Amino acid sequence: MNSQILTNATQDIQLKALHDFCQRTRTGYISYPIAWFILSLVTVQMSQAFFFFHLVILSSFTLIRFALNRHFSLVTNSFSVGWRVTILYLSTLINAAYFASLLAYLLTQDITPETVAAIIIIQACIVPSGALTFCIYKPLSDTFFAVMFAIPLSVYFIEGYPHPLIAALAILIGYIYISVTASRFNHDYWAYIKLNQQLGKYAGDLEQENRLDPLTRMNNRRYFDERLQVAWFRARRDQQPLSMIMIDIDNFKQVNDTWGHHTGDQILIALSDIIRQAFTRATDTLARYGGEEFIVLLENTNQADCMAAAEKLRERIAIRRFSTDATELYCTISLGISSQVPNDQLSSQDLIKRADMALYKAKGTGRNRVASY
Ligand code: GH3
Ligand code: MG
Ligand code: MG
Repeated sequence: MNSQILTNATQDIQLKALHDFCQRTRTGYISYPIAWFILSLVTVQMSQAFFFFHLVILSSFTLIRFALNRHFSLVTNSFSVGWRVTILYLSTLINAAYFASLLAYLLTQDITPETVAAIIIIQACIVPSGALTFCIYKPLSDTFFAVMFAIPLSVYFIEGYPHPLIAALAILIGYIYISVTASRFNHDYWAYIKLNQQLGKYAGDLEQENRLDPLTRMNNRRYFDERLQVAWFRARRDQQPLSMIMIDIDNFKQVNDTWGHHTGDQILIALSDIIRQAFTRATDTLARYGGEEFIVLLENTNQADCMAAAEKLRERIAIRRFSTDATELYCTISLGISSQVPNDQLSSQDLIKRADMALYKAKGTGRNRVASY
């Protein structure tokens, strides 16, 4: 069970990271066709056919990567997160290797110093931005850097360009600098994403605690009032009846006085379980409304059905023998119901007031009964 939860938590983190990766890398795809276009402007030797052929291929890479990105950032996907990351790695690296090979090819041609300068500037812009953008996945960031520089640099050496060692040294320093920065970003990113998940979990737990009554683990009054408000507006819009049952344990003070608070608490817990079992529709809202008072909101339920449900609950409790640590005893409840199709003259609080008045009527007419407003 625990390991299942852990696996899910890890998977959630991996999915979030994948989603972030897709978001962050989206804009970079377009840089290759643009860079190629810029190069064609300064490379006078480039034929139109050569330019267009590679422009189409680089644009296709852009489109494919864009499509993969969109598809893989969806939460539900037929590929596992591991596969999706692998495919994104490969598509990124193949694209990088292709572009780097083009640059290397140009370096083998008889090109002008302007083209060499353009290649260097383009490399200096694309490579660090890519390496830092990919830092969520450090191996990809490193491999990308290596692929983008290794191919043109080896040609640079082979073709006998000036100052190859200085160029190699400059790139090495750049690599170390970017790699260290990417490592730091990588570390910060994963720390952030884990912390974020923990905070989300704590916030969820806190919200859960905030809306639950600690003794019966039923919803509390605050939560009930929120839900009532929403249900009221929904019922008003749909012109559907909304019904409410206010429940109060009869002579509960006597139980406490005779058997002690612990016994009283045990009865409250048992009673809350019975109420829970009695109202199971997704649209039923149950809460502990006060000390020994419970409240039930039934959506799309008219007065007759509400009355029948209340009566059934009353009977079920009246015949129930409550077993506590101190004793076994019977308890009864009184119930007040109100039912209304919401209109502009009434508020959701009026529904509560009316159920309370009905409860008062049930108490006044002998207890252990259901009364309606
Ligand atoms: P009635 O039939 O008129 O409702 O009589 P009652 O004795 O139930 O009503 P009253 O309002 O006089 O007393 C309610 C009692 O409920 C008093 C209080 O001790 C008890 N009570 C309220 N909250 C708790 C709780 O959390 N635990 C326990 N054990 N008792 C509680
Ligand atoms: Mg009471
Ligand atoms: Mg009572």
